[in-house]
Amino acid sequence: MAGGERSAAAPSSPAAVAAAAAVADLERLSRFDPVDVEGPAAAAASAAERLGRTDLVHRARLLQADLLRRRGDVAEAGRRAQDIQRWAAEHDSRHLLARSHYVLTAVLQELGDLSLALEHAVRAVDLLADDVDAEVHIDHHARLADCLGLSGDAVAARERYDHVLRRAEEIGDVHRQLLVLNNRAYCETVAGAFEDALGWSTALQQLAARAGVPLRVGQLDTVGRALVGLGRLDEAETAMLPGLRPEALDASLDGDAGADFLLTLGEVRRRRGALDAAQATLDECVRRCETHGLTSIRVRARREQAELHAAGGDFRAAFEEHKRYSDELMELQSAERDARARTLQAMYETTEARRQTRRYRELSLRDPLTGLYNRRYVDDQLPGLLAQAAAGTTAVTVALLDLDHFKAVNDTWSHDVGDRVLRTVAELLQEAGAAAGPGSFVARMGGEEFLLVLVEDDEGATRRLEELRRTVRAHPWAGLTGHLPVTASIGAAGTAGRTDVTPPEVLGRADAHLYLAKRAGRDRVVTDTA
Ligand code: GH3
Ligand code: MG
Ligand code: MG
Repeated sequence: MAGGERSAAAPSSPAAVAAAAAVADLERLSRFDPVDVEGPAAAAASAAERLGRTDLVHRARLLQADLLRRRGDVAEAGRRAQDIQRWAAEHDSRHLLARSHYVLTAVLQELGDLSLALEHAVRAVDLLADDVDAEVHIDHHARLADCLGLSGDAVAARERYDHVLRRAEEIGDVHRQLLVLNNRAYCETVAGAFEDALGWSTALQQLAARAGVPLRVGQLDTVGRALVGLGRLDEAETAMLPGLRPEALDASLDGDAGADFLLTLGEVRRRRGALDAAQATLDECVRRCETHGLTSIRVRARREQAELHAAGGDFRAAFEEHKRYSDELMELQSAERDARARTLQAMYETTEARRQTRRYRELSLRDPLTGLYNRRYVDDQLPGLLAQAAAGTTAVTVALLDLDHFKAVNDTWSHDVGDRVLRTVAELLQEAGAAAGPGSFVARMGGEEFLLVLVEDDEGATRRLEELRRTVRAHPWAGLTGHLPVTASIGAAGTAGRTDVTPPEVLGRADAHLYLAKRAGRDRVVTDTA
């Protein structure tokens, strides 16, 4: 498993297995009723926290973020999902990454940024493991299909819908079949393919009837739209009537409290000439908009009201209402644009701030002149490497390299030439370090003194250092330093045959060897053995 799945409780402990299963169950459920998910998600997050299973904590919190979105707090949902996504990326937690893209898809859909939503939807699908639960597979692919359909790529959308519908049938998941049939039909109404929309709507109604599951108002709305698109108004009304039952109207999943459905039904009734019934339906729609703060449906209801006035011959009222509709629509659109910009900005700022922090952290471990690691990085890394060496898994050799008579370069030429020599030496060292075992690195300790940490035994390291010394001497320096040669003295010390090697101890030994190399005439390597 990836790093993110590493944890305090062993992944196989019974408590951890139960917590993971609970979260997986909730992920399967989360597509449906929020009420079923809310309490259990909070409980799952706490249970995972007690077990130290941060990955599961985040999976549960992501479900809570998605609930926030469905309750209308899209901005906060987006921020939380982004936070979780960052954690998942840093910890290589692939499933969580896929899930966070899935939630962000819905967030961006609601913000009206379809192209960004589509990008997230694609990632949400690409990152899924092959053996992921069928339900989650269906949800992710279906959401991608929705995005494709809404973006106008009906052909690609249809292919995905076919695929997920087959999978949902294979596992006998009626609720997911209904969901896919509904979205497919809706996609066809968006594409203007009303015959196809009706075909899928009919399949939707038949399956619901066979399974004894009442259609939700959103689904009845889709059926209605397909029939309206074909001008079959009487049938549209008949098909939609079951949605008027209060238990159906109030069971709306996405917080629109049936208002959308009532608006479509009102239009159907008006176009059939049943003006009183249309007015009553529209009044109920407006009442729900006002109770639930559904601004955008409220504005669309004004246009319908204007049509209704006109149908009743009251053109003056129609004109007034239409004017209010236009004004409010403009206000709404600019408010929505502002809100979307603010949310995207806030989401972007958090990511950007983090990227900066990471960049600064990285920069603080680097030497600005040469780009090599600095002493802080050495202090960070060396203890761990030495501990591995003490455990007997690897051998480590540290080597201090100091340029010979470097002061003369500065004095003869300039500090700037000296800097260029340092940068070139840094490159030669970098190459030597890169050729050594994994975990090896090179740092600048200060001035013209460098450190090589080689994950290699004495013999290999000695050979490499000797080669490095020759490479430095043989480099074509004349263009930079004229007649002045550039050479280096190297003092090395290893972990071989020793226990309890600490950073100060090994660095002290290397420094003593460096001193010996200088005393013996410079341009040489002194190690533990030679
Ligand atoms: P030795 O062979 O004994 O090491 O002689 P050396 O001249 O190299 O030794 P010393 O320590 O006396 O001088 C080091 C010089 O390195 C002094 C300083 O001016 C120069 N130096 C230190 N840091 C930098 C730097 O960042 N850029 C440049 N150009 N020179 C530096
Ligand atoms: Mg020197
Ligand atoms: Mg020096």
